[in-house]
Amino acid sequence: MNQEKTLIQKTNASGQPVSLVTGGAGFLGSHLSDRLLAEGHRVIALDNLITGSVANIEHLSGNPHYEFIKCDVTKYLFVPGPVDYIFHFASPASPMDYLELPIQTLKVGALGTHNALGLAKEKGATFLLASTSETYGDPLVHPQTEDYWGNVNPIGPRGVYDEAKRFAEAITMAYHRYHDVDTKIVRIFNTYGPRMRLKDGRVVPAFIGQALEGQPLTVFGDGGQTRSFCYVADLIEGIFRLSRHETHDPVNIGNPGEMTILQFAEKILNKIQTKAEIEFRELPEDDPKVRQPDITRAKTLLDWEPQVDFDEGITKTIDYFRGILGVAEKG
Ligand code: UDP
Repeated sequence: MNQEKTLIQKTNASGQPVSLVTGGAGFLGSHLSDRLLAEGHRVIALDNLITGSVANIEHLSGNPHYEFIKCDVTKYLFVPGPVDYIFHFASPASPMDYLELPIQTLKVGALGTHNALGLAKEKGATFLLASTSETYGDPLVHPQTEDYWGNVNPIGPRGVYDEAKRFAEAITMAYHRYHDVDTKIVRIFNTYGPRMRLKDGRVVPAFIGQALEGQPLTVFGDGGQTRSFCYVADLIEGIFRLSRHETHDPVNIGNPGEMTILQFAEKILNKIQTKAEIEFRELPEDDPKVRQPDITRAKTLLDWEPQVDFDEGITKTIDYFRGILGVAEKG
């Protein structure tokens, strides 16, 4: 399929595209910044560092094409000069974080998205919203297609994230329809890889960290709930392609390889030689029972599908956490 006619690279008078990444010091924002720099963009990264980390962007210090600004995107945003693309990635994204930061999560999804859209309108920039599979809530359609409207509990503990992102999608479409802003929406499914926070509570760093430290792996519920894990490089490729595509409809980006959390725990125990065992804990409220992306739309529009298999991705991720913890490989 010929993608050339629909893939568009914008630029400005300087000839170098300028991309602004909110949440630029986060797990995904920092990988996206690396990719944009590699594509020749100038990158301006904004982050208030409540869940992001300077360690994720240290390697970019001194890069003349990169600028980091510590700021809160829920406040008025002023950015001088041309901006061609805005990637709105700022938000707490792990269940533990958004349970601890419920108001900030709602504010960044609502006020932060409004400000970032206002800036896109002012600059004539393409706007890409990092949305989430959480917009489907605890889904009653499986696998999830983009035309499924979801099953979200608005007043449950996860509602602060799910509803903020659903509002973010709604205001993004309103800016597209009413102000003609060129908008894109990516619905990101569970993604893993280097630069995740060891203690962010998400299952990938939790199990790897526990196994490396010889602690029990904390499986919530009976571990029968499923997730589908996408390696970060694949996700970033999909997002980059979407940013240059003309579609305004949401696009799922994720890896359809689904497994139960118990299977995931067993895979980690197989990869890391450890005496660690599995310990069952109470299932958090509203924890989705299944999750798997239908990626037909991404395949058709973007000619995209994941390239990194689970074994390769998880090995790289384990190596990263070994480095963080200073744990040598056994055997
Ligand atoms: N989970 C688990 N043990 C942990 C952390 C998470 O069993 O220590 C489970 C969690 O209940 C969920 C799945 O793993 O069913 C994925 O959780 P995560 O926090 O990574 O993200 P979610 O997909 O729920 O947003």
